Amino acid sequence: MTFQDLNLNTPLYNAIEDLGFETPTPIQTEAFNIIASGKDVVGIAQTGTGKTFAYMLPILRHLKYSRQDNPRVLVLVPTRELVVQVVSEIQKLSKYINNRVLGVYGGTNINTQKQAVAQGLDILVATPGRLYDLAVSRVLQLKSIQKLVIDEVDVMLDLGFRHQLMNIFDILPERRQNIMFSATMTADVDELITDFFINPTKIQIAVSGTPLENIKQQRYNVPNFYTKVNLLEYLLSDKDEFSRVLIFVAYKKMADRLFDKLEELFPGECCVIHSNKTQNYRLRSIEQFSEGKHRLLVATDVMARGLDIDDVTHVINFDTPDYPENYMHRIGRTGRAEKLGHTLLFSTEKEQDARERIEALMQLDIDSLDIPETVEISNELIEEERPQIRERNNPTKRRKEDVAGPAFHEKKDKNKKVNLGGSYRREIAKKYKKPKTRGDKNYNKRNKKKRK
Ligand code: AMP
Repeated sequence: MTFQDLNLNTPLYNAIEDLGFETPTPIQTEAFNIIASGKDVVGIAQTGTGKTFAYMLPILRHLKYSRQDNPRVLVLVPTRELVVQVVSEIQKLSKYINNRVLGVYGGTNINTQKQAVAQGLDILVATPGRLYDLAVSRVLQLKSIQKLVIDEVDVMLDLGFRHQLMNIFDILPERRQNIMFSATMTADVDELITDFFINPTKIQIAVSGTPLENIKQQRYNVPNFYTKVNLLEYLLSDKDEFSRVLIFVAYKKMADRLFDKLEELFPGECCVIHSNKTQNYRLRSIEQFSEGKHRLLVATDVMARGLDIDDVTHVINFDTPDYPENYMHRIGRTGRAEKLGHTLLFSTEKEQDARERIEALMQLDIDSLDIPETVEISNELIEEERPQIRERNNPTKRRKEDVAGPAFHEKKDKNKKVNLGGSYRREIAKKYKKPKTRGDKNYNKRNKKKRK
């Protein structure tokens, strides 16, 4: 496949030639026609695969010159660094195209950004919080958005931006193309897709990186969390063998819980990263681990993504990831640079299905090992492992007939509040015929003057 095979136009083609790119990357080849067709798309690709061009090439190919000032393409990314990076990539591609690109992010003066927005633009790259603030201030009009790209959506959700995304969806035109890129699939990402995407096409490229032959894969069947901890303690006691170990868990709470346990068992040898830790804390943890000050690092899938740490002797999957791609990303952290890596997978009874999906994806059965006899099998269960008991015939619970009836007076209409979700703002605007936004200083200023 060459760039000539993609249906590009001359300005794009020339820009690519100037950049010196010879062939499109696999994700670019796969994404081009699907994104160009206008369908909703979910792409699974990591940074470094050329994913930014994968969505920008078809978008720029079909973005017509326009004099209107409201943006038509919106790209949402989780961090300001990424805003800067994506803007620069778009500018490179737009060398011979007359379009206006702007990047906005929080932590900087909003008024400067308002002025920039007011100049008019075609493509807006933004972090969710700042985008919403600008939209609420009404300087930024989103009614002309035709294409919404959400990049690194897994990181975005892990950083807790779900609510902000919902608010943004609410003020975007309903007729639009949704394009989403994520490096890992998580339950949160899956839910977002089902809720907001219309029959999306999934684009996925084979996980690149370390060839599997470089990694020795083994697994254990382990009944529960505490037995997993006991097994881990047994393994990690061999400090010469397990000298730089990355331990993966599925979610933040589990990361903290395991970190606390390991701190007890191996004081001062362990660090942890997940998205509830501050950037500084995370950087410090990674530094301590890669410099060898700490031998063990506990990490969640999403946060471990950007890690580029050499000489990881073992990757331990403390749980079995639901999405087999995540397993591939995890184990790719060991066995780098031609060195032999080693990975262990712990699976409970419940996790066997997920384990089978992983084996099916690799077309390989992972060698199963027996838990050593000295490892104690625990019966104690953590909250998530306990069976959920639903109470029936609970005598203290109120029955239907005990529920209080309606009050003597019907409530007046104005007191009947209903939760209107995100459209509340619109309802209020309709009612008062003018915007009611607490955050808009200029609006408040204007009106103070009027009131005087
Ligand atoms: P990304 O995955 O979007 O973060 O891109 C990773 C890097 O690859 C960026 O610096 C791009 O400029 C570069 N890149 C994108 N597409 C190609 C290509 N077809 N050939 C060579 N480099 C590329």
